[in-house]
Amino acid sequence: MQALSERMKSLAAALAVSLLLLGALLSSVPAQQSEKALVFRNVDVFDGSRMIRHATVFVRGGMIRAVGADFAVPPSAQVVDGKGKTLLPGLFDAHTHLGVTQGEQFLQDALDFGVTTELEMFGSDASVALRKKISDSGLTGIADLFTAGVGITVPHGHPTQMGGPPIPTLAPDDDVQAFVDARIAEGGDYIKIIYEHAFPTLTKQQLEDVVAAAHRRNKLVVIHISTQSDARDAIAAGVDGLAHIFADSPPEPGFSEFAAQHHVFVIPTLSVIEMATGASAKPWWQDVPQASPYITPSMRRTLDIKFPPGFGARLKLAHAEAAVGALRRAGVPILAGTDAPAPGLAHGLSLHHELELLVMSGLTPLAALASATSEPARAFGFHDRGRIAVGLRADLLLVNGDPTVDIRATRDIVGIWKLGVPHLRYSANRPTEKR
Ligand SMILES: [Zn+2]
Repeated sequence: MQALSERMKSLAAALAVSLLLLGALLSSVPAQQSEKALVFRNVDVFDGSRMIRHATVFVRGGMIRAVGADFAVPPSAQVVDGKGKTLLPGLFDAHTHLGVTQGEQFLQDALDFGVTTELEMFGSDASVALRKKISDSGLTGIADLFTAGVGITVPHGHPTQMGGPPIPTLAPDDDVQAFVDARIAEGGDYIKIIYEHAFPTLTKQQLEDVVAAAHRRNKLVVIHISTQSDARDAIAAGVDGLAHIFADSPPEPGFSEFAAQHHVFVIPTLSVIEMATGASAKPWWQDVPQASPYITPSMRRTLDIKFPPGFGARLKLAHAEAAVGALRRAGVPILAGTDAPAPGLAHGLSLHHELELLVMSGLTPLAALASATSEPARAFGFHDRGRIAVGLRADLLLVNGDPTVDIRATRDIVGIWKLGVPHLRYSANRPTEKR
């Protein structure tokens, strides 16, 4: 009995000592050290607007904690050698759609290609619910989402012709403020208007009233247009951004200055215009070894769909590109967006081609990268992302080479992190992986 209690005492003493040691150990490091720290060393950083060469970036607890020259980092941190590589903020696609049932899959696809935030430009109650689920729980493995929710159109207006679940529409005698308030109550992040004369659409008065009603509630207004004349109406009505550029005519003299004076931003969606006009005979991704093995089955399904023949017969990609060039020269903010999953496009993948199309329209590669990072963050008022800076989310994309020299380097992806958590991409080269 005596012997046993002696053993118990010494056991208790040993336990006390080890607890003390553990306490000392814990108090010597910051509280968040328990979360795995991540360090990128000797990496060229595109910070959202410029390049910082040979930098070190320190990530902990899902956030960027330090950016700069080499500094001491915890020895336990995971180190990523960035030599010959470029670290970018996770990309935005500023014009997408999720549909009602495939949202999670599409957002997984987006993250697979470094798109860490999508802005949905007409959605549903399902996308509002998904957006809430992702932001409430800080979900990783899937891109972040912001959404317009159900957009504003009139009876028989676009996109009611596409089937889909019935949606509320703005009738001629409806109280516009009440209608807009009802859309806001559904939980959308901003207001999307459909102004499209190929179908019944809002009158100019309704357009102005919707913009005023949304602004009264401090909501941003983004608008679908497809002609230069409608773009002018929308800008004159006071919208904040165009969700497409027109392709029906070359930009008239003064158009880009008019846009600049009204402080609008433009999401040109050259990708969908290229698809609608059949301007690209062969899909760009087919011969890109840095992209094709990573195309998921769900990306493949939308890539293989085509617009009906003759759909874009009166449109020219060259008009849209000329408009983007003129807008850029006039200082209008350009935001990268694709309109995925429109025919021939896929979430994530297509954003990389949009960047190339923007460069072909006259943006420098640096400006094209800003159009997918800091510009959408600024335009939509997101202060927690879009740049690599202290205190921002560690949504990051690491690529081989220098995309400020050749924009196509964004496709050569080395790693993707959302909130500091590495993302395992789908790959056809890992056949055991289910996706
Ligand atoms: Zn769209």
